[in-house]
Amino acid sequence: MPISDNAAAELHPETRLIHAGTMRSQFGETSEALFLTQGHVYDDAAQAEGRFLNTDPGFQYGRLGNPTTAMLESRMAAFEGAETCRATATGMAAVTAAVMAPLRAGDHVVAASALFGSCRYIIEDHLPRYGIASTLVEGTDVESWCRAVRPNTRLFFLESPANPTLEVIDIAAVAAVAKAAGALLVVDNVFATPLFQRPLALGADIVVYSATKHIDGQGRCLGGLILGSKAVIEADIQNFLRQTGPSLSPFNAWVMLKALETLPLRVARQAENASKVADWLAGQAKPTRVIFPGRADHPQAAIVARQMSGPSTMIAFEVPGGKDGAYRLLDACRLIRISNNLGDAKSLVVHPATTTHQRFTPAVRAAMGVSDGLIRLSIGLEHADDLIADLEQALAKV
Ligand SMILES: *Cc1c(COP(=O)(O)O)cnc(C)c1O
Repeated sequence: MPISDNAAAELHPETRLIHAGTMRSQFGETSEALFLTQGHVYDDAAQAEGRFLNTDPGFQYGRLGNPTTAMLESRMAAFEGAETCRATATGMAAVTAAVMAPLRAGDHVVAASALFGSCRYIIEDHLPRYGIASTLVEGTDVESWCRAVRPNTRLFFLESPANPTLEVIDIAAVAAVAKAAGALLVVDNVFATPLFQRPLALGADIVVYSATKHIDGQGRCLGGLILGSKAVIEADIQNFLRQTGPSLSPFNAWVMLKALETLPLRVARQAENASKVADWLAGQAKPTRVIFPGRADHPQAAIVARQMSGPSTMIAFEVPGGKDGAYRLLDACRLIRISNNLGDAKSLVVHPATTTHQRFTPAVRAAMGVSDGLIRLSIGLEHADDLIADLEQALAKV
């Protein structure tokens, strides 16, 4: 499909997020059109044949592609610096396709143990049912990735910063281990956002997003994105998506396409707010620990400085009193609402041990760094002073 002339690679990322991928209909609309259609009609039988043979450029059927979704994919690929992008119905559909499609029974996967709960389910519980073994490693320890490699290792998976502990993995170092092993490296870049971390430039083969988070950024639609080289995406992932059908709704694609225009503005402000809130929290007596990738006391601050161009919009902190202390804080928050979503314009707080990471045993949670007093905070677009005031009165109740 034709990509807008304004998508040239020498333009700045912010400019490409406004223009890249635009396809205008015969009406020359300013804003991108929403093509809410299941399929497309053909001028004649030969054109239909050509579409199926891929000799005639154009769309056929919504499960295989849609003009609005294609605009989102082109725009996101231009921003990420990827050759190609595929959109999916949810972030988990993106992770599942990116991880499962390239693998065969008998293959082996290595993944960081600190993962979003559903990602860990795919690696730890789902893959072994199909004869694909997996090893979970301490992601921040590059040696542990080396030790886990077997002759049949085909894929590495990691999340950095990880949910909810915000531990940061040296992506370039792990990519070098993956390359030496002949394995694909898949990076879930949700917590970093496409603004602050470029895994492909660091050596990853595939980047996945839950577009539900910062890319929508206003708590409306679910969506996912898979980015990488044409060789990697078109080898197995494209066909897996076309045949199994986790297609993104064109309406959701349209919402996210328009949301990309403001992504850098929103994420930059959210990160600025998060820095202020994290610094304030660190200066208080109550939190026993504050973890924020923008702070010099982050455990992997040196790696953050090397591979990220900004902090996250997420903060993790521990309060005294374990679960009871955490509940007191959550229940006292007035402005900041309790929700397990993140990346939203509205600031949200969650207690991972009893929600997102509930299904793990206390021992596994402890190994992942998810203590009973750990709180995860997603910082939104409110005024930072209002967020701090809300936390101040809530912390007083802990
Ligand atoms: C939310 C999330 C996902 C899953 O995305 P959905 O859109 O909810 O399916 C995957 N990875 C990370 C790190 C997430 O935060």
